This record gives sequence, structure tokens and C-alpha cells, in this order.
Amino acid sequence: MVNLYALSFEELSEFVVGLGERRFRARQLWGWLYARRSANFEAMTDLPRSLILKLAETAALGELKLAARQISRDGTEKRLYRLSDGQLIESVLMPYADGRRTACISSQAGCAMGCVFCATGQMGYARNLSAAEIFEQALLFARDLAANGERLSNVVFMGMGEPFHNYDASLDALRQLMSRLGIGARHITVSTVGLAPQIRRFADEGLQVKLAVSLHKVDDAERSALLPVNRRWPIAELMDACRYYVEKTDRRISFEWAAIAGENDMVEEAQRLGRLLTGLRCHVNVIPLNPTGAYAGTPSARANLERFVAALCQYGVPATLRLRRGIDIDAGCGQLKTALIGPEQVR
Ligand code: SAH
Ligand code: SF4
Repeated sequence: MVNLYALSFEELSEFVVGLGERRFRARQLWGWLYARRSANFEAMTDLPRSLILKLAETAALGELKLAARQISRDGTEKRLYRLSDGQLIESVLMPYADGRRTACISSQAGCAMGCVFCATGQMGYARNLSAAEIFEQALLFARDLAANGERLSNVVFMGMGEPFHNYDASLDALRQLMSRLGIGARHITVSTVGLAPQIRRFADEGLQVKLAVSLHKVDDAERSALLPVNRRWPIAELMDACRYYVEKTDRRISFEWAAIAGENDMVEEAQRLGRLLTGLRCHVNVIPLNPTGAYAGTPSARANLERFVAALCQYGVPATLRLRRGIDIDAGCGQLKTALIGPEQVR
């Protein structure tokens, strides 16, 4: 079976011609795939019966199989998908009161970066996702939202995996979000643990996409203990790449700060962070840690989070406190897979 979402428009045209149909049918089919987001061939009413039958025999609309689903009281929806080789990945949809509908999608099955507090990092790396597998996660949310008269407005690459460790497929998928689903570049965020060379490469792409860097610590030894990748690209090198990104793109950069009680939520830590970031066009998102099985850390108390944000603001560094979503479900990155098949099996 040929996965139609994996084909470019030119490839789809060749495919349609290969089935013995006229080339212009590809244009119609493309519309059904991406403007109408049809879930089956039968819905494609202006295609000839002959083509619908051939498509049903030879082609597939995607390759993700829903394996589990949880919906939180706050509306956050988490999905676990089984890929064609059995790998499991997660996507999350977050509805916001202002109307935004944000999909959080995975770029890899597992992750090789080994961040100690992250459920995905604790699983280890299985494989890269293809661009089609990354893109389809967003398409499936967009399709279901459209059925309710809603629109997928934002996409963040903050699910399982490190998008810059799967650079080409992530970038292809990102371009497909824009061209096929009509999501504006400014409504897409790529989050990286800090692969400095890829940050520079990303800056050179000339895209208006947002970039978030998971910082979490300002001291090299301490950051390396939480995020082993820091040994390869320590903070000075990372910050050089971030400054390059800001200069080259003329965009501000975001930093993610997973606040862990007694670990990185002290006012002195905020002051060190403030000194590190002063003068850089940036924004800090402070997010309380989501506790995970193999890591003993706990989320910061609300009062400490507020003090941390206030201390940063004194350095002129804009910071926002982001409250965790879906706390009554396993919404944290990698947590649904862990919850469903048990921490022993995910390793
Ligand atoms: N690999 C990329 C993107 C996926 S992780 C990256 O690391 O940036 C998305 C975000 O979730 C990152 O900021 C990551 O540090 C954070 N994260 C991972 N596990 C977490 C946890 N248990 N609690 C809070 N944030 C977590
Ligand atoms: Fe990978 Fe990001 Fe998790 Fe680190 S935080 S292990 S980079 S997914």
C-alpha cells in the first residue's frame, strides 16, 4: 500500500497516471487529502468510481493506528499511535480558552538525548519518524477538529524525540504543516534540547517558525547532570548559537525552564539565569516539572514559581509561568506510553 501522505504533489500525479487515470485527477485528490482532509476514499465524490476502487486497493490514507486515547478535564487530549512497525508514539491536543487549538507532536520514537527527568528520555531511542509520520499526527487532529467546525491553529514539536536529531524529516514535516494544512510559520514552534549546529542551520533556513531551547540550568556541570547533551554542546556554545539565531532571523528565542523543587527554582538561580540572558531578545517559559517514574525530582511550589518569574523580570528578561495541562491524565511527554505498557517494558 502506498501512503498518499508520504507523496509530494508531483509523486501523487505520477501515481495517479500509473493507475491509468488522467493527470488532473491528482489535483482533485490533493484537495480531498489536504483541503477537505477526507478520512476515506468513498468520501471523494467527484472522483470516478474506477479511481476510487483502484485507490482502495493500492493506497492508504496514512499509517498511524490509534492505540489509546485519554481526555483530561481541561480538554487536553492525548493519543497513543502504533506505527506500521509496532513503535508507539504520542501526540497531544491542547484547547485554549482564546480559541487556539495546539497540537504537540513527536519527531522520534523514543529519544537518544537521555534527559533524566523526561519519560521519553528514560525509554531510550528506537528510531526517527518519517516526515509523513510526523505530519500525519497534526493532520489527524486537524481532521477531527474540522468535523466540529474548529481549526488546528498551532503546532509545537514538543512531543517525543529531539526534532533536531531528526532534522531533515522534521523540517519536511514543518513545511508540510504550512503548505498542506495552512498553518502559519509563526504558529509553529520547534523545541530543541540544544543541538548548537542545528540551531545555526535552522537560523539559516529563513523560516518565521519559532524556536524554543530547553535550558533548565545555567551551570555546565549541573546542566550536564540533567541533560547529558550539555557535555557535547556546553552552555557557552549553546548561547553562541542562540545569539546567532536571534541575529540571523531577527526573531526572539524562547527558553524552556522545567521548574524542579530545590533544584532550579531558587531566586539565586533566577538571578544567574537573568545575568546569562540579559541583552538577548528572548522569553522564558517556566513550567513546573511533570513527575516521572525514574526521576526523584518534584514540581516547584506555586509561590516559588512566582518568585522565580519575578526575579527574572527584574533582569529585564520576560518570563511566563505556564501551568501544566492534562494533570489528571498522562499528558507529559512519553507518559502515556509508560503508563499503558509499564515502565519495565518501555526501556
Ligand atoms: N526534545 C525536545 C522537544 C521535546 S521535549 C526538547 O527537549 O526540547 C519538550 C519539552 O518538555 C522540553 O522543554 C523538555 O525539557 C520538557 N520536558 C521533558 N520532560 C519533562 C517533564 N517531566 N516535566 C516538564 N517538562 C519536561
Ligand atoms: Fe529527548 Fe527532549 Fe526528552 Fe530530552 S527532554 S530526552 S531531548 S524528548
